[in-house]
Amino acid sequence: MKYIDEFRQRDAARKILEKIHGISGKKVTIMEICGTHTHTIAKYGIRNSLPSNIRLISGPGCPVCVTSAADINKVVEFCKREKDVIIATFGDMMRVPGTESSLQEQKAMGKDIRVVYSPLGALDIAMANSGKQVILYAVGFETTVPTVAATILLAREKGIKNFSALALHKLTPPAMMALLDSGELDLDGFLCPGHVTAIIGAKAYQFLAKKYHAPCVVAGFEPLDALYGLYLLMKQLEEGKAEIEIQYKRVVTWDGNIKAQRIIEKVFEICDSNWRGIGKIPLSGLRLKEEFAHFEAEKRFSLANGIDEELQGCACGKVLKGIITPDQCPFFGSTCTPETPAGPCMVSFEGTCAAYYKYGYSQYKTTD
Ligand code: SF4
Repeated sequence: MKYIDEFRQRDAARKILEKIHGISGKKVTIMEICGTHTHTIAKYGIRNSLPSNIRLISGPGCPVCVTSAADINKVVEFCKREKDVIIATFGDMMRVPGTESSLQEQKAMGKDIRVVYSPLGALDIAMANSGKQVILYAVGFETTVPTVAATILLAREKGIKNFSALALHKLTPPAMMALLDSGELDLDGFLCPGHVTAIIGAKAYQFLAKKYHAPCVVAGFEPLDALYGLYLLMKQLEEGKAEIEIQYKRVVTWDGNIKAQRIIEKVFEICDSNWRGIGKIPLSGLRLKEEFAHFEAEKRFSLANGIDEELQGCACGKVLKGIITPDQCPFFGSTCTPETPAGPCMVSFEGTCAAYYKYGYSQYKTTD
């Protein structure tokens, strides 16, 4: 299959690995900032194929996982309070436990909560249910935002009055900066997300190289993409460079998708945002501009702030910051599994704990 098989070839992977092994044994820590990279790395056994001097850690790259407990509790409380509303959300958000309940549990109790596959699905529900208010509960990084913005523009154009959004979008570069500023990690470089960068452009990471001397390589999601991206990072580190490189040139450019950026700018403005495990990061979120206030669910329905309390003992915050690996959480694989998740990192397909459980569980079992 064009654009997939070429990036899964065993012999090519072996050659890149040989090159990586041929670079000096300097100890380095590299963070993959995207949940899809975490999955690729786990699924294809990349972490275990690398020389022992390279430590790969996973970052806050899953949009479901970084949604704060307060924001989940806020929607759950709203569901309990309101009748005649329909909450439309993406599948993974359903099972993420809030402090007392999840949206899935609210649905089981009779609340009208529906899974949609795109923001337009929520608008369709609104048009088919004119007697009810429909709220799109939307999470996502820069990749998802253009579709939400386009949906809001379409709702305005069609004059739809019973549709609004609780948009909890997050921006990737400020989170990378917050991790470096925290001083909790000793990071040498980043494997940057292909999809997010397709929108924002690789130039969005320039400040990381300039201010923090942290090299960044934007990589795709097939195993050869990730491996080659790691090779480029190792080469930069060996040569003492800190540059922004694009491995994923078939999708990503330096400037990004200008059309998508314009749609985002038309509808959203930058604000502070609360990240699970990290807390408030300045200028790391997006909110609707004043002229779209009618589509802003939070103001329209006076949604109260939820309590920001996570399950006691859950280590998702530390996993999201790359301070521990999932197997170091006492719940991993015992009280917390994909069937009985205690935290969002085990719920979401892109969650680090889910990736470790699915592809590396037996490995951890034997070393217990
Ligand atoms: S194993 Fe479960 S409880 Fe522990 S960090 Fe992961 S998701 Fe949270």
